[in-house]
Amino acid sequence: MNGWSVFRPILLAVDDKAEDLERVERELGNRYGADYLVACEASAEAALTRLRDLKAGGKEVAVVLADQRMPEMEGIEFLSRAHELYPLAKRLLLIDPMDGASFVRASRAMALGRIDYVEYKPGPPPNERFHEVVTGFLREWTRPYRSEANAVVRIVGERWSARSHEMRDLLERYAVPHAFYPVDSEAGRTLLRSAGKTAERLPVWVLFDGRVLVDPSNEEAADALNTTEGRPEREETDFDVMVVGGGPAGLAAAVYGASEGLSTLVLEGEAIGGQAGTSSMIRNYLGFAQGISGQELAYQASRQASLFGARFRLMRHATGLVVEEGRLVAALSDGTEVSARSVVVATGASYRRLGVPELEVLNGAGVFYGAATTEARALEGQDVYVVGGANSAGQAAVHLSKYASTVTLLVRGDSLEAGMSDYLIQEVEDAENVRVRLHTRVVGGGGEGRLERLALQDSASGFTEAVEAAALFVLIGAEPRTGWLPDEIARDERGFVLTGGDVPNDWHPTDRRGPKRPAMPLETSMHGVFATGDVRHGSVKRVASAVGEGSVAIRMVHEHLGGT
Ligand SMILES: Cc1cc2nc3c(=O)[nH]c(=O)nc-3n(C[C@H](O)[C@H](O)[C@H](O)COP(=O)(O)OP(=O)(O)OC[C@H]3O[C@@H](n4cnc5c(N)ncnc54)[C@H](O)[C@@H]3O)c2cc1C
Repeated sequence: MNGWSVFRPILLAVDDKAEDLERVERELGNRYGADYLVACEASAEAALTRLRDLKAGGKEVAVVLADQRMPEMEGIEFLSRAHELYPLAKRLLLIDPMDGASFVRASRAMALGRIDYVEYKPGPPPNERFHEVVTGFLREWTRPYRSEANAVVRIVGERWSARSHEMRDLLERYAVPHAFYPVDSEAGRTLLRSAGKTAERLPVWVLFDGRVLVDPSNEEAADALNTTEGRPEREETDFDVMVVGGGPAGLAAAVYGASEGLSTLVLEGEAIGGQAGTSSMIRNYLGFAQGISGQELAYQASRQASLFGARFRLMRHATGLVVEEGRLVAALSDGTEVSARSVVVATGASYRRLGVPELEVLNGAGVFYGAATTEARALEGQDVYVVGGANSAGQAAVHLSKYASTVTLLVRGDSLEAGMSDYLIQEVEDAENVRVRLHTRVVGGGGEGRLERLALQDSASGFTEAVEAAALFVLIGAEPRTGWLPDEIARDERGFVLTGGDVPNDWHPTDRRGPKRPAMPLETSMHGVFATGDVRHGSVKRVASAVGEGSVAIRMVHEHLGGT
């Protein structure tokens, strides 16, 4: 039995204005009263006491809503404190439509992870926009309950084994409802028995239709689950366009390719969504004011591509690419081959991670990988840190210095000169509020729901210091995933793929019939092979630009196919 069936989770609202609170109570009660309990308080202190009591009574709180302008404590502060009691509860700040000052404060609080969203207080019905936000929160909050209740796969495994974790992580990223039972639990033993298996080889998968898999490979697991969407009735092996990589660039290429009538295959080696799929909240993607989790974006995009008819081969890496009789043939990690008349390379890049687990969990809540422009404004008057010694880190530090109170650039080496351009070093030195700390490594940190502190180690002395920090930007480099590409595809000195005008003259693509010609935009030095997104030399390294390039690549594919 899961927690859901035991008691109704709570939606708690607080506002000192009686009329406004009544309206919120009515809206929540009318819409969600059958499945949730609605609790209301007229002051922040009373609401905190209520939350403490609920916690002591073992109750679940799904959403906390607070008015920003309350006399004893502003809503942002209240929601931060509520978060300490209920870290998983969603936090919605309510403001009046004309309250521009609160809106500005709310946008900063959102960027720092102190609230989840800001919305106008409900007025006379209908209040669909308000409910859209609350419903979205509930959809996210109930995911673990839904997953368990509607599990498509139930797994029995060792609680702390790396393989069990990897499988759960992949299922999570593929949004497959699942439940995990440790092998030493009663439920785990019962499930194993009913499946007719022992604990000798784990993990054991029990699928919704009774199939049982023992320690399946990623490919076997993907095939077992891939029963409907994107699954061909018979395995096709030849396509108009083969998209390698199912991150934002590849998914966009798949949506446009399939929707424009091309038979389209997507090959994805790990999980749909790529790097974006690991981001808990993408806040700068056009049209999603509240932000969207990378996982949700990936799920929606892959569904969209499937509905247009794109095919997916999941958990299979492309390991090579050759031209055979005018077709582009990719070798896959499962030993099979697929061919196509054109290829879109969208294998992205892997950002080097800090490898500090306490900071990984705060990704998006004060810890940011990549450029700093999105969050800079929200960091006005705060102390922020940038890790990295190359140009991207220098640029981020200079940009942040316009907003933050202080910016500290953390560099592992003993000088900036080794990795940064002179002009940028000059700019860093000229910025009065930028400090540079050489031979320094980030070795720890943490905070309540958002970054609050870092542990910095001086590699010369070995001394570790704790500092307060509102944000940490990690810019320690990215590596393109291009090891599988043939030598005929020209790359820059760091391995990123050259396209269009960047392809050197002597690398211009050719095909069997024609002379060498300049590469088309996004085309590589290999005829009919295009590259998009982070894997491409000179790309912008953003979700939106990857999506844009993925769609443009299909335009080029049409031109290529028209000419062949
Ligand atoms: C933690 C994090 C947070 C981010 N937050 C933001 C943000 O808020 N806003 C923003 O604009 N950008 C953000 N970014 C950057 C953004 O995610 C990337 O720019 C974007 O995902 C690039 O898309 P892509 O499709 O080019 O590559 P990727 O996302 O890297 O996807 C490439 C895919 O190809 C697959 N693949 C690789 N090799 C092979 C192979 N040989 N065969 C088959 N498949 C293969 C990979 O498994 C992966 O799924 C973030 C990045 C990270 C790491």
